[in-house]
Amino acid sequence: MELRDAHCHYQFAEVPYAAVEQARADGVGQAMINGSAPSDWQDVAALGRRDPRNRMSFGLHPWDVPTAPAGWAETLRATLIAHPTAGVGEMGLDRWVKEHDPVAQEAAFRTQLALAVELERALTIHCVKAIGPLMDIVRATELPRRGFLLHSWNGPVELVPELAKLGAYFSFSAHHLIPRKADLRVQFAAAIPRERILVETDAPALCPAAEFRLRELAPDAEGTEQNHPSNLVRNNAELARTMGVTPAESAALTCANFARLFGA
Ligand SMILES: [Zn+2]
Repeated sequence: MELRDAHCHYQFAEVPYAAVEQARADGVGQAMINGSAPSDWQDVAALGRRDPRNRMSFGLHPWDVPTAPAGWAETLRATLIAHPTAGVGEMGLDRWVKEHDPVAQEAAFRTQLALAVELERALTIHCVKAIGPLMDIVRATELPRRGFLLHSWNGPVELVPELAKLGAYFSFSAHHLIPRKADLRVQFAAAIPRERILVETDAPALCPAAEFRLRELAPDAEGTEQNHPSNLVRNNAELARTMGVTPAESAALTCANFARLFGA
C-alpha cells in the first residue's frame, strides 16, 4: 500500500531528512513539497533532485506576500520552466492572518494563477477566511486545465459541486480530525466526489492531536508541536473510516487522484 502526500513542506528546517526517510519506510511514496517563497524554492528543488518521489511545487504563500522581493514573479516563472513537472503553489488568499493586505494578496494570486494556466501546471491553493473572494476569482478567470487543489479544504458544503465542476480537488488533513470540524469531515463521506479526494499532512504544519500521530517530531524553538511526515498514514486511516472503505482502498483512490492532478 503506497500513500501520496498531496501537500507538505519537507524543505522546512523542522523536518530533518531522516523523518522523510522514516515516512518512506512507513509507506509514504510521492509527496508534493510546496515552496512558499523565493527563499525556499532552491531547497525544494534540491529535495526534488535528491529523490524523484519528492515532487516539487513553487509558489508565493499569502503570508509571504508582504515580504516578497521585487521580481519574484519572474523568478517563479524561470523556476517553473526549469522544472517542467513542478506545480504552482502554495499560493492563495488568507483574511485571517494579521495585517494582511487583500489587494496585494489578490494580485499575487492572479499572477500565479495566470502562470499555472500558461504553463499548464496544477495549482495548490491555501484559502482561509477568504472563500468569497476566492469564488469571485475562480468563477470569472481561466483556470488550469489539469485542475487545482484546495489544500486542507475548509469551505462550505454548498460550494463543493460548483468547485468540482471548475476542476477542484479537496485534500483531507489533520484539520478535519478536530472534533469541532466534524462538519468538514462529513463532506468527505458524501459531498465531495471520490475522484477529487486527496490526503495530505502539511508537515511540519497542522500537527494532529496525539491520538492521531504515528510518529513524533521535536517541537520548534517556541515549543510548537510539529507534524511528522509519517502521520499521513493516520490521516489516510481516518479518511478511510470517514468514507467507509479500507485504508488500502483509500490509498489506491488518493494515489490515482494525485497522479491525475499532478501527473505521474
Ligand atoms: Zn502548506
